[in-house]
Amino acid sequence: MSEATTSTPSTYTPRPGGRPSGPGGRPSGPGGPRKKRPFQRRKVCRFCAEKDTTIDYKDPRTLRYFITERGKIVPRRISGNCSKHQREITEAIKRARNLALLPLAAGHALP
Ligand SMILES: [Zn+2]
Repeated sequence: MSEATTSTPSTYTPRPGGRPSGPGGRPSGPGGPRKKRPFQRRKVCRFCAEKDTTIDYKDPRTLRYFITERGKIVPRRISGNCSKHQREITEAIKRARNLALLPLAAGHALP
């Protein structure tokens, strides 16, 4: 007679406590699967779509749309501008900063 009847298979051994979390182990925080894109702005360049809208450094209301709250210039992949207009926006924002129409990026002016 052969005793081949084993109650638990030897290949799978479930641990009661899960995987041991030692020091140096990466904690699984709330940064899990990235599926959603919450910040999806318009893809079309605003200035290409609306011919009437001009980029003017003396018009901070238009420029303010393309800077963050901290005063940083929004990158092109987020704002959706084309490269030509993004360059003009950047120039206009920098001029407006010199004229104190727009704030500098936070961290430069404040201690
Ligand atoms: Zn454009």
